[in-house]
Amino acid sequence: MTLGMTRRVFLGRSLWLSAGAVMSDRLNLFRLQHTNGKRSSQRGSATPMMITSHSNDTGRRALEAAWEDLAAGGSALDAVEKATNIIEVDPEDWSVGYGGLPNERGVVQLDACIMDGRTYSAGSVASLENIKNPSSVARLVMERTDHVMLVGPGALEFAKSWGFPEENLLTEKARQQWLKWREDHSARDDWGPPDHLKERGLSDARVDEPAAETYGTVNVLAVDTNGDVAGITSTSGLSYKIPGRIGDSPIIGAGLYVDNEVGAAGATGRGEDVIKSCASYYIVMRMRDGRTPQEACDDALQMIASRYRAVGLDYLPGEKFVAINKAGEFGCSQTSGARPPRMTVTNQSGLSVYEGRSAFPTESG
Ligand code: ASP
Repeated sequence: MTLGMTRRVFLGRSLWLSAGAVMSDRLNLFRLQHTNGKRSSQRGSATPMMITSHSNDTGRRALEAAWEDLAAGGSALDAVEKATNIIEVDPEDWSVGYGGLPNERGVVQLDACIMDGRTYSAGSVASLENIKNPSSVARLVMERTDHVMLVGPGALEFAKSWGFPEENLLTEKARQQWLKWREDHSARDDWGPPDHLKERGLSDARVDEPAAETYGTVNVLAVDTNGDVAGITSTSGLSYKIPGRIGDSPIIGAGLYVDNEVGAAGATGRGEDVIKSCASYYIVMRMRDGRTPQEACDDALQMIASRYRAVGLDYLPGEKFVAINKAGEFGCSQTSGARPPRMTVTNQSGLSVYEGRSAFPTESG
C-alpha cells in the first residue's frame, strides 16, 4: 500500500468516524456565535494594527498600502501578504526577495514563512530560487497542501505549478557586491589579482570598502478588525551563505510565531541562534503569561545571553525581535547597539516609527 493510499484510507475512515464530532462542533460553534451575544458582537470590532521590522521608506509604503484594506475590515492574512510583497520586490533591499544578496556562489536563495492564527495554519519555503515573492508561495503551501514546509527544487516546482514566473533575482548591484566579497574575504585563496601586482600596489584590488554584508529580514505582523492575527517573515538570508543554508526565517516558532489568542512575534538577525532558542515561540509564550510585547522581546534576548553564560561563554549574537499583542501593544528589542532598534507601526492613530530597546546597549556603533 502506498503512503498516499494509506493517508486517503485513513482520512476516509476518520472522516466517517469524526462526522458526528464535526457536526456537534459546528453546532457548538453556531451556538457560541448566536447565543453568546458578547462573543458574536466582538467579531469585526477589534482594533486593527500592523507592524513591520523595516523602518525604511519601503516599509512605510508597504504598511500604507496594506493598512487601507485592514482598516476597511480586510483580513490580517491578506494584509501581511500585501505588505510583504511590496518589500520583497524592492531592488534596493539587500536582505529580502529581489535584489537580496546571494549565497557564496552568487545565487539568491530565499526563505519565507507565513502563519494564520485564525485557522492555526502555517506554510513555509526555504532555499527557493528565481521567485520574487516567496511569502506568497509559502501561503499556497499553507492553503493548498497538507504540508508546512517545501524546500529547494521542490519549492520551485510547486511555485511554477501555481504560475509564478521564474526570474533572475540577482540585481547588478548585488552581483557587484558578491564579486567584491569573493575577492576580498580571504587572502588565502586565489580570487583577486595576482600576488606580484597586489603586493606592489599595482593592481585594482578592491580593498577600499568591504563588500556589503547583511543580517536583514522582514517581519510583518497584523491584527484585523475580527481580532485575528497573522504574520510573515521573508528573507534572502545570511549574505554569502553556504549554498543550501537555511536560517530561522522559514522556521515556524523560530523566525515567526502567531497565536490567535495572544499576538505574534518575529525575528531578524543571526538565524542560527534564533533556531536554537525558538525565539518567536518563546516571545509569544511570554506574552501569553502576561508580559507586554516589549518585555517579552527583552526576555528573549536575556534568555539567549543566559544560555551562553550557562556554558561559560560570554557571547552575544546580533538579534532583533518584534512583537504585537491583541490589546494593540507592540515592542521591539535588539541585542546591542548605540541606537535603539526601530520598526514601523500603523494603527488607528496613524503611521509612526517606534524605537524599542537595546538589551545590552553599547556606547558607539
Ligand atoms: N535571520 C536571517 C537568517 O539567519 C538573516 C537576518 O535576519 O539577517 O537567515
